[in-house]
Amino acid sequence: MQTLSADDLTRRVRLLLQAAGSDEKVAQQVAANLVLANLSGHDSHGVGMAPRYVDAILEGRLNPKADAAVRVDAGALMGLDGQGGFGQWVGVQAMELAFARVRQFGCCVFTLAHAHHLGRIGHFAEMAAEHGWVSLHFVNVDARPVVAPAGGSDGRFGTNPICMGIPVGTPGSPDPSRAFILDFATSRVAQGKMRVAHNEGRRVPEGYLIDAQGQPTTDPGVVVVPQADGRMGALKTFGEYKGFGLAVVAELLGGALSGGGTWHREADGRRAVFNSMFCVVVDPVKLGTQDAFFAETRAFLDWLKQSPAAPGQPLGVQLPGEPERAARQERMAQGLRIDPATWQELVESAKKVNVAFA
Ligand code: NAD
Repeated sequence: MQTLSADDLTRRVRLLLQAAGSDEKVAQQVAANLVLANLSGHDSHGVGMAPRYVDAILEGRLNPKADAAVRVDAGALMGLDGQGGFGQWVGVQAMELAFARVRQFGCCVFTLAHAHHLGRIGHFAEMAAEHGWVSLHFVNVDARPVVAPAGGSDGRFGTNPICMGIPVGTPGSPDPSRAFILDFATSRVAQGKMRVAHNEGRRVPEGYLIDAQGQPTTDPGVVVVPQADGRMGALKTFGEYKGFGLAVVAELLGGALSGGGTWHREADGRRAVFNSMFCVVVDPVKLGTQDAFFAETRAFLDWLKQSPAAPGQPLGVQLPGEPERAARQERMAQGLRIDPATWQELVESAKKVNVAFA
């Protein structure tokens, strides 16, 4: 294992992305976002994605210089296009465009089509919550059909994340350290976590995966490397048909309503990962309910936290967003540990663009 500070890791990833053709400012923002995912405990969406981004640039499908474009401007309703740019760049541009509309109208509904991988969707909800705004995010993944529909036996769609952010604090003074950020893949686990588990040589709990024959397995390799017959296994959705239903909603709102496209074809082995997002941002102040909203939110979340810890649950009730903030504190202090396989992938990726990962 390599252990690095967040700053050191950010610098190395920035230089890698710059060597692949990205401007310094964009590379810095993407690298910082990936490192923040590592800090937040989501290594699946951290710097281990950078080699894939480099491959996506080299195959000509990720445009490292693209900005988000406004295709439809109807005030509080916008249709945006990420034009194949870095998701961590065009996604932030999209949120900032939406924030200007929220200031004007109290809400904004927008779609963002054709962004390259948006990374941790919670990042965007955290941005909105810092302003004291509620946000909802439905995202589809155009990369590889790695999740099986409930009742089916092979992968038909992506890990389609859904995220909901709710600010906590007082009117005019939201407290980001308490924001409720529910941010999850609709698959039983994120695909990237299977890559990390496979790289670390670990098995995963039962119920997450089926193999290329549709049989249950605990080997994460079935969704990371092609199997003997060239086919891949698949992840299951969480919550059986309920998670499956939500995954379909994310595909249809993220992929169909945005015009970005849904997945309905065989896997093609390409490295780029495209995301399209449907997003709603609401300002409780403009709705006139800010006093009740913030008071009731605090009262309800405090009420939940007062539930006595269940046996074997030393932390008791945790609220969505808390695990990520706790991980950040711990990892900022202890440094970020990068497993040998991920490190090797970063080193090899740097060679492809003629730099050292140093
Ligand atoms: P996960 O299973 O760790 O769930 C994370 C969510 O659950 C967070 O909101 C977290 O705060 C909350 N949580 C975790 N433990 C909790 C507990 N004990 N009590 C209460 N709440 C708890 O995450 P995941 O499904 O593996 O997703 C990881 C990340 O992957 C997310 O950030 C997601 O946006 C991202 N993702 C991105 C894409 C993409 O294509 N861009 C695709 C899939 C997932």
